[in-house]
Amino acid sequence: MKLEIDQNRLLTELETLATFSDAEPPAVTRVVFTPIDLKAREWLIARCEEAGLTVRQDAVGNIFARWSGADPGAPAVGTGSHIDAIPNAGKYDGVVGVLGGLEALRALRRSGFRPKNSLELLVFATEEPTRFGVGCLGSRLLSGTLSAEAAGRLTDHDGESVEKVRRIAGLKGNLQDVKLPADYYKAFVELHIEQGPNLERSQKPLGIVTRIAAPASLHISVEGAGGHAGGVLMPDRRDALCAAAELILAIESAARSSGAVDSVATVGVCDVFPGAVNSIPSRVQLTVDLRDTELARRNSVMQAIESAIRTLSEKRHVAIHPEWLNADAPADCAPEVRAALSDSCRTQGFQFLEMVSRAYHDSLFISRIAPTGMLFIPCRDGYSHRPDEYASPEDIARGTLVLAAALARLSS
Ligand SMILES: [Zn+2]
Repeated sequence: MKLEIDQNRLLTELETLATFSDAEPPAVTRVVFTPIDLKAREWLIARCEEAGLTVRQDAVGNIFARWSGADPGAPAVGTGSHIDAIPNAGKYDGVVGVLGGLEALRALRRSGFRPKNSLELLVFATEEPTRFGVGCLGSRLLSGTLSAEAAGRLTDHDGESVEKVRRIAGLKGNLQDVKLPADYYKAFVELHIEQGPNLERSQKPLGIVTRIAAPASLHISVEGAGGHAGGVLMPDRRDALCAAAELILAIESAARSSGAVDSVATVGVCDVFPGAVNSIPSRVQLTVDLRDTELARRNSVMQAIESAIRTLSEKRHVAIHPEWLNADAPADCAPEVRAALSDSCRTQGFQFLEMVSRAYHDSLFISRIAPTGMLFIPCRDGYSHRPDEYASPEDIARGTLVLAAALARLSS
């Protein structure tokens, strides 16, 4: 079997997909189920059909493009990622795994390979939390991590529910039917840009993921008492922002004192009400993003944050309401998928680094229902989620080649 990646075609498709955007190039903004995203999905489905794949969409908009194997009843071998993009993002996050996955299937076809298990490209819907506040909505539903009822009730900034938005987008069927049977996939592999600097630093062209870190996100509302900045004296104050400031530092210290560099906590949003120069802040909303590779350690940081909330609430006489939006478990990548990837690297003569994924991906959820692995390629300076995100054509083609070889191993 002679596998050859059509690098020019893959790059042209990547550039074309980047033109489906609501931002000025090189930035890409493609929020799920907006008119531009629907056009991009249509374009992608046409490319899959052109490649001879049989395409279906489920009720939440996950796209499946299948190449039937010699044993079509056997569990499939899947690959894929996402094409939605946060505002002002780049053109590689997710897209490399989708178009690379498509090119891997085309390369296998061109080589004369005939899979025993069906091979399937899966384009996950709503990986980014931009529109509905929860990331990986498609894969959470596929894996049964989130119930159809809870998913259908999520709303966007305009108050429109997932249920309504997806129906307007033309998606049929019921969200209850999105969940895949436990034996649907024999294996799943996601190709992705690293979104960090480790491959570049170690000068290795490929990364094989061993673990995917466990994310948790928290919304905190601090309620104090407002008033005139001149009229209310310091002993009488219940300043919500001062309490929030102490809490932010307590969150930082909770992550720092976990004893492991893998514990990370970020307060990325701090909304102050009323936000006037001469008015004492009466209300503050914070968001916390917490990640770790060990579930127990991540949970103990969560507890430390909750205990800081209780202490500060008493000390500063403010009401603090924490609401955990999600607290997912980490995932181990499957030994057989890691072996298929590392064997493929060795056969092709490529060095690789075994590494942890600190960003989370749809693979975190697919790993609940299928043996799953991830293959990383470098991205310049580790930049991602910004317009200057970049992966070289050679790295993209190399990742696609290793992916194709691994898919062949897993489906033989
Ligand atoms: Zn991604």
